[in-house]
Amino acid sequence: MGNRFDISVVAENETIGNEYIGLAINEIKRIEDLISSWDSNSQTSLINRNAGIKPIKVDDELFQLIQRSLKISKLTNGAFDISYASMDRIWKFDGSMTTMPSEESIKKSVERVGYDNIILDETNKTVFLRQKGMKIGFGAIGKGYAADKAKDLLQSKGVDSGIINASGDLNAWGKQPDGKNWMVAIVNPLNKEKVFSWMPVQNSSVVTSGNYEKYVKLNGELYSHIIDPRTGYPSKGIISVSIFTKSAELADALATSVFVMGVETGLDFINQLKGVECIIVNADNKIITSNNIELKPPK
Ligand code: ADP
Ligand code: MG
Repeated sequence: MGNRFDISVVAENETIGNEYIGLAINEIKRIEDLISSWDSNSQTSLINRNAGIKPIKVDDELFQLIQRSLKISKLTNGAFDISYASMDRIWKFDGSMTTMPSEESIKKSVERVGYDNIILDETNKTVFLRQKGMKIGFGAIGKGYAADKAKDLLQSKGVDSGIINASGDLNAWGKQPDGKNWMVAIVNPLNKEKVFSWMPVQNSSVVTSGNYEKYVKLNGELYSHIIDPRTGYPSKGIISVSIFTKSAELADALATSVFVMGVETGLDFINQLKGVECIIVNADNKIITSNNIELKPPK
């Protein structure tokens, strides 16, 4: 998925442990083949190629992932939108972009963004992108989904404890071999040596979206890779968002959403969701937390 995955399992010995890790890797690869929009053979690419042309029948698994993505779009008033992807013709974060796109080109592209135009047919399991040039992409939910699926698979094979860490989007279950909880360090995104706090992760996930790893600098200003689907411009005002909740998929999508919503709206939104907490670092490098998180300074 163009990302590093670190997989840890607690097992009787290294050979068995490595077998489990192999299973998790295969599962992540399987998901990548399904949801990648880079791989022209994936079902996702087929949907995109047929935008404005015809509905495409897909696997149940992909159908349901898209269905859940649309639910999150509704929940977030469109801050999260997998059809943001047509914007990747305008904003490129691979170093190839040197000038600011014109207002007009952004306006034109954003017309092709809109989850309302993703048409699902439950009976036939088809997906249709209504407008030509539309595109979907799972950049903001796929890593979390893969982490959940790899964890589910290992649990079903009897692995009692482990961590699937997709470049900082992690899902942990069980306990460490010494019986202690897995702990996650909350660091200052601008200085990763500096730990704000340690938090236990108990059968739960932690996902962070940030603007400090993937961005483009134009005219001295940083533009993050998280785009507000409603304006077509990269989101501003937040350095990073970490979400704590059971599912890594939901956490992944919500981290991106809060990033787009901004500090106030985002915090308010998270505080209304049961079982979801967040830590936001704003543009002034200040930490803001949702109602039920207490940051304890490291001992
Ligand atoms: P990270 O990749 O740093 O974990 P995210 O989970 O927030 O960050 O995913 C960001 C990626 O999601 C972007 O690179 C892009 O592919 C996609 N994306 C950007 N903006 C949106 C959005 N508003 N809704 C859905 N996906 C988005
Ligand atoms: Mg995300």
